[in-house]
Amino acid sequence: MTATLIDGIGLLATQDPGLGEIAWAALLVEGDRVAWVGRSADAPPADARVDAVGRCVVPGFVDSHAHLVFAGDRAAEFAARMSGQPYGAGGIRTTVDATRAASDEELGARAARLVTEMLRQGTTTVEIKSGYGLTVRDEARSLAVARMLTEETTFLGAHVVPPELADDPAAYVALVTGPMLEACASHARWVDAFCERGAFDADQARAVLEAGAARGLGMRLHANQLGPGPGVQLACELGAASADHCTHLSDADVEALASSRTVATLLPGAEFSTRSPYPEARRLLDSGVTVALATDCNPGSSYTSSMPFCLALAVREMHMTPAEALWASTAGGAAALRRDDVGVLRPGARADLVVLDAPSYVHLAYRPGVPLVAAVWRAGRPVV
Ligand SMILES: [Zn+2]
Repeated sequence: MTATLIDGIGLLATQDPGLGEIAWAALLVEGDRVAWVGRSADAPPADARVDAVGRCVVPGFVDSHAHLVFAGDRAAEFAARMSGQPYGAGGIRTTVDATRAASDEELGARAARLVTEMLRQGTTTVEIKSGYGLTVRDEARSLAVARMLTEETTFLGAHVVPPELADDPAAYVALVTGPMLEACASHARWVDAFCERGAFDADQARAVLEAGAARGLGMRLHANQLGPGPGVQLACELGAASADHCTHLSDADVEALASSRTVATLLPGAEFSTRSPYPEARRLLDSGVTVALATDCNPGSSYTSSMPFCLALAVREMHMTPAEALWASTAGGAAALRRDDVGVLRPGARADLVVLDAPSYVHLAYRPGVPLVAAVWRAGRPVV
């Protein structure tokens, strides 16, 4: 196995609680893993050496919430919203029509392009949801497409009730928990539902998550995005890996998150793109809740694939410190996916890292919108 030493790292932000941040660091890559990290002066011998010329190195971003399998475009809806029209869950149906009409090849090519776009911006692990097919066939092929791009695939048949069953949501929940789950489970690691007024209520979301769990899928939940609701407490009660959005929280919601293993995944791209109030990250962090940041990349409410952009929003708009935002974008995302091999740079972790064209990760928020990603390594190989 070839050992490559990445040397001359001005600042290595490991996200490992024991290792912390190391100035003038080096990192040894062996195969697809990190073999050693420490001070440059103590670096072990290696077969090859790469000079980071004083740049900052951070773990590859872990984007734990993205909807990448779709067709169509909703730029007109965005423009209308920016001219004052409100956002509702129903806009999803526009994308459903386009997705059903698209071929597998088109869906695959579009999703692959977004994954590449993400990789160029430093994202080395991405979760991809279905949820724009809403038929047995279209959800199953959406997940088959996602499975070719990531191991973190999520069955989101319960995204919205499709128009053909709008009058009979109970029949749709029966379809999701029955034949649709049957067709999708082998392509999925997770099950998710959109627990929101206009989508699925607590009983329906519970039925979907419990059915998925019975098939061996991990649980995650879209919760409390558009208004207060039962989603967050349901996610905590069921032991879901994450409750996503968390924009409208009661004290009981915060308490439930703080006393559970459920990660609060904040998606500030959605509030940015819908011109809505941001989630209260400070309140969550100060209460001891584990917080992750993700893009929610989707064509309706957050069409950004950029973790650096979300990190900058978290710092500027949600009062997270740059260090907290970096952790939430890396190790926090990993926690939301119940992974300990990504989002951190320590011996044994997958060698996924970003070399920033900056002396510190603070520049990710300090210089928003600037392409600071100089290089990306995934599984021990330079890919950007
Ligand atoms: Zn979402």
